[in-house]
Amino acid sequence: MIRTQVPLNDLGRALKAQSEELTSIVADVVARGWLVHGTQHAAFEGELAAYVGVSEGIGVASGTDALELSLRALRVPGRNVVVTAANAGAYTSVAARLAGFEVRYVDVDPATHLLDPAALASLLDEGVAAVVVTHLYGRAADVPELVRMCAPYGVPVVEDCAQAIGAAPDWGRVGSAGTLAAFSFYPTKNLGALGDGGAIVTSDAELAERLRHLRQYGWTGKYTIAVDGGRNSRLDELQAAILRYRLPLVDCWNARRREIITRYEDAAGEHVTVLEARGPYHAAHLAVAVTDDAADLAGHLADRGVGTGVHYPIPDHRQPVFAADHGSTVLPVTDGLVGRILSLPCFPELTEGEVEQVCDGLARY
Ligand SMILES: *Cc1c(COP(=O)(O)O)cnc(C)c1O
Repeated sequence: MIRTQVPLNDLGRALKAQSEELTSIVADVVARGWLVHGTQHAAFEGELAAYVGVSEGIGVASGTDALELSLRALRVPGRNVVVTAANAGAYTSVAARLAGFEVRYVDVDPATHLLDPAALASLLDEGVAAVVVTHLYGRAADVPELVRMCAPYGVPVVEDCAQAIGAAPDWGRVGSAGTLAAFSFYPTKNLGALGDGGAIVTSDAELAERLRHLRQYGWTGKYTIAVDGGRNSRLDELQAAILRYRLPLVDCWNARRREIITRYEDAAGEHVTVLEARGPYHAAHLAVAVTDDAADLAGHLADRGVGTGVHYPIPDHRQPVFAADHGSTVLPVTDGLVGRILSLPCFPELTEGEVEQVCDGLARY
């Protein structure tokens, strides 16, 4: 039986469905003639903060910049280590190294693939500048628990919300419990721009002010550099205007994503487990299957016209350029998941027929 090709992702569908609105937003920005740090940007910063449930939003140029600038803003003498998990795509590792920190890795929980609080305890001390927790695949981590653990050491928790905008666990929306929280609006994220974009949110007005200096050369006023470590990382008016239009749609898109993952979870045969995404604590960014041989499952699904990917194939401590610093790092759960995870098609515009086709492939494996 020849079926259609089900893509892992297809950004063109949302672009096509929204083409009239997007075109008119672009025309508006052109007509206004203000391109950077104007009214759209200021409004989006406020709307994002309100959506998350905090007081301050700071637009930046990408999610990685949001992480890097967050870590720069938190820098204090004597604290040179950033602690994070090694299975989340290395964005935090890249950001931390750019900001001049040493990175130490914690293992993850085998059930959720999220940073394991039990494994964190032995890594905490007064030399740690921050713990960065990623709400991986869209699932909210238990940030209040991490904050409780870190508080005695004076260590702030930074939330990486790049995959989880809108996830609403019982303690609020993700991004509202850490000292700082980073978001990415890369086009494939649950809230995507038409190019790169990012933001930081916080309820700490002093940190927010510092971040607004750091994202623009360290300027405290035009051409006065009074904060060291600054660089250029701005979110432009066009992206901000698009994000303002899309932000109110995120909850509805996330609900559809959860529905798709739940269908996969229910359909999967005994040799595959699909990580659950059943409640509002999950933004269902990625549908991830766990199986003994992910490459074999990928081949089986490819034969049935289903595109797949791996998020992520190489743990941070095994990355060619980081490995030299982490020869002795042993992370049994993280290492044990290598070759066993596979991402399935998951985006709101998937058709019922396509979801069925993926379910059928999972059931027959
Ligand atoms: C995408 C992503 C980032 C980086 O965002 P960019 O905007 O691509 O720099 C950071 N963390 C996680 C978990 C991501 O998925």
